[in-house]
Amino acid sequence: MLPIPQTSARPSSVTLFNRPNIGAIERCAQECLQLLASKRQGSAYDSRRFSMIGLRHVFKPAKHNSTGYYLKNPDNNKDQENYDVIIFGGGAAGLMCALTAANRGRRVLVLEKSNRIGKKILMSGGGRCNFTNLSIEPENFLSANPHFCKSALKRYTQWDFIKLVEQHGIAYEERKHQQLFCKDSAKEILAMLQRECEASGVRIMTHIDISSIKSISPSDEKAGASYQIRFLKRENESAKSYSINSESLVVATGALSVPTLGGSGMGYDIAQKFSIPLTDRRAGLVPFMFTDQLKSVCERLSGVSVEVEVSCHSQSFSESMLFTHRGISGPAILQISSYWNPGDTISINLLPQLDASTWLCQSKKTKPKNLLKTVLQKSLGKALVSELQQLWWPNEAEKPLAEFSDQRLKQLGGQLNHWQLKPSGTEGYRTAEVTLGGVDTDFISSRTMEAKNQTGLFFIGEVLDVSGHLGGYNFQWAWSSGYVAGLEV
Ligand SMILES: Cc1cc2nc3c(=O)[nH]c(=O)nc-3n(C[C@H](O)[C@H](O)[C@H](O)COP(=O)(O)OP(=O)(O)OC[C@H]3O[C@@H](n4cnc5c(N)ncnc54)[C@H](O)[C@@H]3O)c2cc1C
Repeated sequence: MLPIPQTSARPSSVTLFNRPNIGAIERCAQECLQLLASKRQGSAYDSRRFSMIGLRHVFKPAKHNSTGYYLKNPDNNKDQENYDVIIFGGGAAGLMCALTAANRGRRVLVLEKSNRIGKKILMSGGGRCNFTNLSIEPENFLSANPHFCKSALKRYTQWDFIKLVEQHGIAYEERKHQQLFCKDSAKEILAMLQRECEASGVRIMTHIDISSIKSISPSDEKAGASYQIRFLKRENESAKSYSINSESLVVATGALSVPTLGGSGMGYDIAQKFSIPLTDRRAGLVPFMFTDQLKSVCERLSGVSVEVEVSCHSQSFSESMLFTHRGISGPAILQISSYWNPGDTISINLLPQLDASTWLCQSKKTKPKNLLKTVLQKSLGKALVSELQQLWWPNEAEKPLAEFSDQRLKQLGGQLNHWQLKPSGTEGYRTAEVTLGGVDTDFISSRTMEAKNQTGLFFIGEVLDVSGHLGGYNFQWAWSSGYVAGLEV
């Protein structure tokens, strides 16, 4: 071990490289040491500058949280190396946790099941990633404990993430409801996280199957390791097995939504292994389906969109609703789906700006010769009104408004303002943007995300019983919970 002189000098003439090999690192390390030795002594060593040139691969903190660094033995076999932190899942929360911990000097390994990290980031926001919202309030989150999210959201706010996005020169725009999206591509958010991870020396392994997780009891604890992880790395036709120890274990495996994008129940299995209970889970931010006559109505209206106010269990959202060939979707429906339980009825206000009963009675006076459909088409469009006519006034289709009684118009107005629909179900995890419920937050520290009954075990992101509304809230939860855990691991 070779001690590095304490200095804040920047090794500016050292060659930059992204994927260092040991020879290049050794040469670089030598250059650094010479440079550092020739500069001012005694001030704090800036670990980030070293990590920027990949030197974390050869330097190791002298001791946890210290500023001194030592040259690692280059003969070390990296595959047998122990880490301070192992993170399961290279999604939004896992990557944020990884870069935060590595910036503190922690040796971090991310194990990702899939062939690449951050798949949901890439697919999010229609490819433009709605990465946060200008207005983040605890009320935008669902959880059995509505207070749980407050601390993390306060410690790492939307403004912190926006600052990071700006530091990386990513162009973004504000859309409806204060949602922030990338102007160009969600790829930029993932690239930013990857750059930050690479700069701070995070090691990421993809194609991983976790075989076993063992908590090492204090009696056989070695070198501060608390968890032993055995896993396989798939490589073409074969698989290589690894056994790696770490002090902290972070579960960032997300939840059940969209299995094709990495959704898995692995995090729940780990929680149960360590006797941490789960709350009931179900799909959230998900389209509704119908099996009755409404299914064919929706099929015929597929692609039609209308501005509505939708309500269920005293929650309401004013947004657009979209008919699909299976049922109804669109932002208003996705939002209310998180408050819906099987068997519930939802209420849709097709004319949220109007008291439809009063308006129809007035229209009868001002346009007595008009058909009801003619009056409604201006607000609701031809296709939707034609279907509503089939459902609600098929025998009065040719009747001018003057021939409708006020009572009948009030009844139809009531239907327009309170269309009661009973979905047969949701599209389920296949298309749900989130999973409601998850690891019971009563058993997790809201400040650090560490399990209360298991030192060194952390749960972050969607695996926890915290789900956001549509609008960038779920990513903000991933960033905030990942960050606070990253400070602690
Ligand atoms: C289509 C879609 C669009 C979305 N758009 C938005 C949006 O615009 N804004 C927003 O705020 N939210 C959006 N969301 C929700 C958001 O993507 C999630 O809430 C967020 O990604 C959760 O972060 P996470 O890190 O907890 O989980 P994930 O991002 O799901 O990451 C979990 C990672 O763990 C990996 N993993 C799973 N099992 C294992 C295992 N056994 N071993 C190792 N690795 C494993 C997965 O492959 C994945 O990479 C969207 C979701 C979907 C499905």
